[in-house]
Amino acid sequence: MNIDLLPVRKRLFVSLLAFSLVGAGLLLVAVWYLATSNSRTIFDQVLLLALAGLLIGGLVVAGFGISGIVLTILYAKDITALHGPMRVAINLFFPIALALGGVFRIDQDRIKSSFIEVNNQLVRSKHFNLLPSQILVLAPHCLQRSDCPHKITVDIENCRRCGRCSVSKLLELRDHYGIQMSMVTGGTLARKFVREYRPRAIVAVACERDLTSGVQDSNPIPVLGVTNERPFGPCFNTEIQVPKVEEAVLFFMKGHEKN
Ligand code: SF4
Repeated sequence: MNIDLLPVRKRLFVSLLAFSLVGAGLLLVAVWYLATSNSRTIFDQVLLLALAGLLIGGLVVAGFGISGIVLTILYAKDITALHGPMRVAINLFFPIALALGGVFRIDQDRIKSSFIEVNNQLVRSKHFNLLPSQILVLAPHCLQRSDCPHKITVDIENCRRCGRCSVSKLLELRDHYGIQMSMVTGGTLARKFVREYRPRAIVAVACERDLTSGVQDSNPIPVLGVTNERPFGPCFNTEIQVPKVEEAVLFFMKGHEKN
């Protein structure tokens, strides 16, 4: 399978996943060598062979998972049979891929951004036909102007819609389509709102780091991630292109659109 055929921004994450798989394969060879060495006691050999068995199982499932990810991206088609392996490949090998990126001095945000691209493409390969009330938009509180005195994380209705930040536009979007929306200060609050609203799909606005953990925490709920813009640095007066959020919402409610 030729990873070079993948779009550039998705290639980094998939390549690192594939490298992680090769690393796990080398570990398997080492474990196998130790297990079959005559100098081991029977007990050691049994333990090592059990470890080798686990590694083989993980490698086979992750191999199918990575193939599923590549095929889904290439053909833009959902492969239902490979959902499980794809999840294993992402959840099991993502930390290894990040560590590998660290070894090769690849910017962690670039890897996470590539992960979000891959995740979004996998979500977009499926078909949804959700009611607006089944969609939750989670937005970070750093979109709010730092000098705004209104406590919108306590209740988003506290926003006075003065138009100085993107929150007022997001609220217009919420009211127009009838979707759910919350402002969050981090993962704990995001998880609380997900438990409360029980959405069938999430549109998450955040930086690469928070989107990555959000996508993993929300599993198996599908999440489309929209990266925020940080013209003044991280977590301060950030911005979002609201049409991108709208496009993600419309994707989930295809068939229930309102003009
Ligand atoms: S739109 Fe105005 S009132 Fe609402 S959060 Fe932004 S600055 Fe505050």
